[in-house]
Amino acid sequence: MQYVLYDDFKPGVVFGGKVIDITSLLGGATEHGQRATVEAMIRNAKDIASKAGALAEKSGGKPVEQVRLRQPVPDPRHLVCAARNYKDGREAPEANFFLKGTATIIGNGDTCIMPPVDVRVFHAEPELAVVIGKEAYNVSERDAMDYVFGYTCFLDVSARGVASGYYMHKSYATFGPIGPGIVTADEVPDPHKLRIRLWVGDALRQDFSTSGMANSIPKLIAVASSVHPLMPGDVLATGTHHTDLGPVVDGDKVTIEIEKVGRLSVNIRDDRKRKWPEDAKKE
Ligand code: MN
Repeated sequence: MQYVLYDDFKPGVVFGGKVIDITSLLGGATEHGQRATVEAMIRNAKDIASKAGALAEKSGGKPVEQVRLRQPVPDPRHLVCAARNYKDGREAPEANFFLKGTATIIGNGDTCIMPPVDVRVFHAEPELAVVIGKEAYNVSERDAMDYVFGYTCFLDVSARGVASGYYMHKSYATFGPIGPGIVTADEVPDPHKLRIRLWVGDALRQDFSTSGMANSIPKLIAVASSVHPLMPGDVLATGTHHTDLGPVVDGDKVTIEIEKVGRLSVNIRDDRKRKWPEDAKKE
């Protein structure tokens, strides 16, 4: 099942190529904001899955290409990002994380705005993101996958070389495109065998497999949940392969596609119209 928010952030599922409005299955949660809506989608997922077919027959739904898909988790409590989590020629990293603010979050078709600050380069790191399904605190690696609700695509947009530390590198508004929907875990039997590709315009720039992660998803969940509880609807981005990272500049259309999970595109705007060499330093 794929869960989406669409148009004015209506909750839906994609069923036979159509988006079905599931507002009526969420017990009034939509009146309590986007976070409550997402939490209710997760909490009621079994019920929704069993009723989606009948609801589709009754309401018909809208073809998915005729709706505007929005960020499927607009307001998570935590957006936790793995730092340096691929075996990409550098020192094999221990599990390490930073938090990205929720003001970074935008959805499919939206625009990432490059801030007018001095940087070495802007990058958009393609990453598989895990959406947490139930509260996870101090969970073991062995149990960790029980806490996964589903998966989505994430771009960890980064401003290299501005000040120091993750906050200034990672937190600018619009620096966290996510979506297009959440594909439930049952549809992704092995999240460590997914192809991730990134295009800039029509040019393929990155093509790697999640099999290259240095720390597996269970390991990441175990370590992150040893720091603080991960809550339903929280997002854990699993890092990128740094080898083929390249600059993003004004006018670019950047597309990430993850096998079984989906495809997300955003536009890049930089009012300063800056350019960088292809090999601008990748850290
Ligand atoms: Mn990253």
